[in-house]
Parts: sequence; structure tokens; C-alpha cells
Amino acid sequence: MGTKIQWVNYPNADGRIGRINVRRSRMTDGDVKSVDDMGRTVYLKVKFKKKDKFSLAKLTLKRHADNAAYTRTERAKNAGVFMPTRETFSIVSWTGEALFGVKLTPAGGDKYKFEAENLVTGKKVQGKDVIETRRKLFYQMIRMRKAHQISGGLKNKLKKRFWDPSNKLYLKLEEYAGGKTTPNRVNFNDEDPPTKAMVLRHARRVYNNSKAPYSFVVLFVNKNCIPGTEVRAPAGNISGNSTNVNTRQRLFSYADPAANDFGSILWIPSSTGLPEAFTKADYKRVGKWTMKLNTRGKTRGPGRFVYTMTIVSIEGMGLSLSSENLVTIASRNCDGKKVKKRTQLNILVHEIGHKIGMVPGRQGDRDLDTQSTYYHGRGHSGGHCRHPSPLLPTYSGVNPAPPPQCTMFGDIRTNTEKFCPKCLPSVRKLDIDPARKVGIRKQF
Ligand SMILES: [Zn+2]
Ligand SMILES: [Zn+2]
Repeated sequence: MGTKIQWVNYPNADGRIGRINVRRSRMTDGDVKSVDDMGRTVYLKVKFKKKDKFSLAKLTLKRHADNAAYTRTERAKNAGVFMPTRETFSIVSWTGEALFGVKLTPAGGDKYKFEAENLVTGKKVQGKDVIETRRKLFYQMIRMRKAHQISGGLKNKLKKRFWDPSNKLYLKLEEYAGGKTTPNRVNFNDEDPPTKAMVLRHARRVYNNSKAPYSFVVLFVNKNCIPGTEVRAPAGNISGNSTNVNTRQRLFSYADPAANDFGSILWIPSSTGLPEAFTKADYKRVGKWTMKLNTRGKTRGPGRFVYTMTIVSIEGMGLSLSSENLVTIASRNCDGKKVKKRTQLNILVHEIGHKIGMVPGRQGDRDLDTQSTYYHGRGHSGGHCRHPSPLLPTYSGVNPAPPPQCTMFGDIRTNTEKFCPKCLPSVRKLDIDPARKVGIRKQF
């Protein structure tokens, strides 16, 4: 008995996927030996006797007991996606052979055996091979000139999280076209459209699209700090020619020296109640949270400052563009300190997890049922996993109790690159066909 490996996230035929003309021969390699090993549909040839010609024959596909368990609702919702063939029929040819087309699941590590029966004579033929399902994607690592990326050892750990035979994930990640860099930028504010467009344009110049749409890019950027606005009215007192006022969150120029913090600052002295404006020239940042104001000419005594300033709202660590084949990983914190490579690995697994549809639910993959530990928002952005924590109103700020033990939690406090027992079956079951995953298919 042999094993026939079938790569189920590849197509059965050449053709267009989105805007890409897919030639399957571009994807054959040491893993995927032939285009015949691609696709969810497998053609099985069964040999009967020559005298059996023109009989009606039936093929029964037998699923292994350990195959990925798609629920009744998943199969009902997406029958074409999750239902493997059970039985199919064919006519025995004049040479005594029958050819059956069967459809497999999109999961990793599913095994199938088959049995064919000549319905005229009742004779049964057992299939010789076991068919096993696999998935594969390519990734290209690109970095900004002064950013750093994970080491070779950690890349192996990354791959093992997705090619995990003990959990039958069998999603092979293969790096290709490495060593490319883009011009440096101190901060990648992905919420600023011109900045985002420029960074993407630079990355696109060195992106190797030969594996599209089975490829995505991991871009290592410097910082990924996102500005926000802080409006407050703290009490104060002016006595000399300058005074310091503290903000609650860090001033944004602390993260990006080229950025402008200044929105507006007013002084409202208690004695008059009439606002006196500071100009941008009156303001200087002298600490992460400290504004030094030139108070010459302002009314002395107690009063109130009313300010609108740009501050660091989010210290982004990683990002998976939900509609394009790009993941970004920060290599520095807002203070300029390098992110540990180990932490980058955790974030990388998390973001690639998003890329393939984790966590199933409204803001993740919708083909599967919503995962029991799924949540979105609640202080985080996107669909995440809270295992084994209860559902809390928010997970930011306070330490969730008990602390989640999953890389798909919404922030880095979990400090792990491992998927939890709730996420593992989802990673196995996800359909990683770019035809169904815009975040892989659509080129950034
Ligand atoms: Zn996330
Ligand atoms: Zn999880």
C-alpha cells in the first residue's frame, strides 16, 4: 500500500484566480512533485477484469477516523467546501478499468482509502493507496534597511507551528526570494494613507510574485506606532516664564521625531476666564510625557490648560492586512529598543494565523463555525482567541485572568508562538485556497 499525497489548497487545473493567471507547473518542487498531486479533486483508476467492461461500478471513499471534524452546520453552510465525496459511480471501460473523480476536504492530514465495487457482479476491489491531504504557501521576508528580522533557528520554529504532524496541521510554509530590503523609515504609521502607500510601493518593488497567489510577504519594519489625539484640561498655575504640563499618553514625537505633536493649547486663567492661546513655537517636548510651555505674556496665577495633542495611541507590533497578501512585523518599540526576536516569532505566528483566517468568527474565517473562544474588539483589533480566559468586557490594560495561553490572543502578553487546543483544530480545518482567502489572493 502506498501513500498518495494531495496538495488540496492548489487547483486542479490551470486558470485564473482573481487577477492572477495560475500555471500550476510554477508551484511544483521538492514537496509537490507534479501537477497531478494538486487539487481537491482526485482521479482514481480502478482495475477490474476485462470481461467486466461496460458494467456500472461504484467507488466508496472511506474517511480515516482521525480526519478533521467539520460540524453539521459547517457542512450545511458550505457543502461544496467541506463535504468529501462518499460515493461516486462510473462505467468500466472496454479495457476493464474504471476512472472515478472524488473530492477531498481542504484540511491538512486527512486520510482516505477507497473501495470499488462492480455493481453487476458484486465484485469488490480495494484501493491500493492511502490518500493524504497537505497544504502549502510561500512567504518572502523583506525588511526595511535598518529593521531586523528573526534568525534561521526561529524560522524553523515558525514553520513547525504550521507543519505540526502531531496535530495534523500540515501547512507547509516555504521561504523564497530572501534578502531583499527597502528604504528605511523610522516609523511605519499604517493608518496614514500616504505613508502606507509609500511603504507598500517600496516593498512591491522587491516582491517576487512568481508564486502568486500562493505567496505572501512578511515585511519587517522599524517601529509601527500609531498616533492618536489626547484632549484634556488639567489644572495648572503660571508663575514664571515657563511651565511644564504632563500628558497622559506619550507624545508622538517621542516615537517619531519628525512628527508634529502640537494641535492646540489654551490657558484659561481663573481670574479672567478668558482663553489665551499658545503657539506651536511656545511648545517644546522635554520628556516622553512632558510639554514645556513658554508662558511669557500669559496671565499669572491658577487656571486650567486645555490642550489637543498628538500622542502614541497604539504601539503596533504586527499587522496582517486583511485584504492583501502582506504581513508587517515591528522590529522596534516606540522607544527605539529592539523587539526580541523571540517576541517577533510569536507575533509572526499570530499574524500568519490571521492571514490564513484565524480565528474563525465574524472578523476571521467565516466558512467555519465561530470558534468557542473567539472574541473581537474588547481592547484589541481583529478576531482573536481568549483561551482559557472567560469572556471579559475588555482585555486591554488589566491582566486577563486566567491569562490566555494562545498565540492568537489579541496582544503580546501571552508571549507564546503556540496555538491553543481550541485553535489547533481550526488551523487544521481552514480552507487555504486563495480563491477563498482574499488576504492571500489579492496582491498588495
Ligand atoms: Zn491579532
Ligand atoms: Zn487559541
